[in-house]
Amino acid sequence: MANSVPASLKPFNTFGVEATCNELISFNDEPSIQSWLKAEKPALDSLFILGGGSNLLLLGHIPLIFLQANIQGIEYLEQNNGKDEVWVKVGAGVNWHQLVLDTLDKGYSGLENLSLIPGNVGAAPIQNIGAYGVELQERFINLQAIELATGHIQEFSAEDCQFGYRDSIFKKELKGRFVITQVTLRLNKNLQPHIEYGPLKQELEGETSITAKKVSDAVIAIRQSKLPDPAQLGNAGSFFKNPIVTEEQYQMLLDAFPELVAYSVGSGHYKIAAGWLIEKAGLKGYRQGDAGVHEKQALVLVNYGHASGQDILQVAGQVRDKVLELFGVKLEPEVWIIGEQQIFLS
Ligand SMILES: Cc1cc2nc3c(=O)[nH]c(=O)nc-3n(C[C@H](O)[C@H](O)[C@H](O)COP(=O)(O)OP(=O)(O)OC[C@H]3O[C@@H](n4cnc5c(N)ncnc54)[C@H](O)[C@@H]3O)c2cc1C
Repeated sequence: MANSVPASLKPFNTFGVEATCNELISFNDEPSIQSWLKAEKPALDSLFILGGGSNLLLLGHIPLIFLQANIQGIEYLEQNNGKDEVWVKVGAGVNWHQLVLDTLDKGYSGLENLSLIPGNVGAAPIQNIGAYGVELQERFINLQAIELATGHIQEFSAEDCQFGYRDSIFKKELKGRFVITQVTLRLNKNLQPHIEYGPLKQELEGETSITAKKVSDAVIAIRQSKLPDPAQLGNAGSFFKNPIVTEEQYQMLLDAFPELVAYSVGSGHYKIAAGWLIEKAGLKGYRQGDAGVHEKQALVLVNYGHASGQDILQVAGQVRDKVLELFGVKLEPEVWIIGEQQIFLS
């Protein structure tokens, strides 16, 4: 059943900024979403889908209705296909890290590198969450979503989702058109470890028998040492995406900055570490009032206490401008910036 709650969004965003919306409605199952859509017939541009609020920068009052698919449930589906796999079908409202822990408790692997990513399962496909050498798409089977315009349930395969680096069709042509209600992922009974990523390899050095739980513990230890905990210091993780540049741009940057941190992503393109650019621009630890760049991780913008969304946006603009001026590289936000309408830093 639909459940209307007060519209303060401060507890619903990990930046911890004060923000409000017209209404916040949480749903526990698919039929209640469908009934509400049928009864209200809302305009699509009056709605915003909220997950755990860990990838959002909210700017003051947002004149929209926020909908939350708080659908619970983790169901393991045995596959009799002769392969070493089990599928897990998960409600959109399940906390992502709780899902990872549940799969590990059951003895399954596949999600361990994605431990401790904040947010809910329903948001994970939106930007194809990724960390420590693994992206959601490698584990993705399908998702179920309700089309907001019609209330119809639709299934999306991995191909339908058009996953890319921090990207999917839900950030492009289907932006704001579907609410994801269930996600099905592929797990393994036997571990196929992905521990090539430098710091992870280092953390696991000396381990004789690698298990999924040990990989998860190592990922958690690294994340806790590097990233601020939103419960202590408001933030939304990486604020900017790592920019992808052409080989020509990469060579020019490398000539000017031989210590540049970048790696090839194939087809003549290179991904540059945005954190390195920001640090090199002298902005690591930069602070303006209560908004700033984290002192250990330059890619993370933080709220030291009472910053508003606008204060953080201003710092983000300064970071973007300085990086553009020094390196000729334009940083794009990874977080969703939501005010009277969705805003891009351009
Ligand atoms: C400390 C920290 C570390 C982080 N580390 C990582 C990391 O390593 N890798 C990574 O990829 N991300 C990382 N993030 C970003 C964030 O955790 C992910 O993007 C996460 O998937 C967001 O989930 P959420 O439920 O909080 O979504 P929200 O922030 O609430 O929403 C994000 C987007 O998803 C949409 N959305 C949410 N739920 C649904 C739904 N059910 N149906 C349709 N649309 C929906 C929203 O409309 C919005 O556009 C980090 C964030 C923090 C704070």
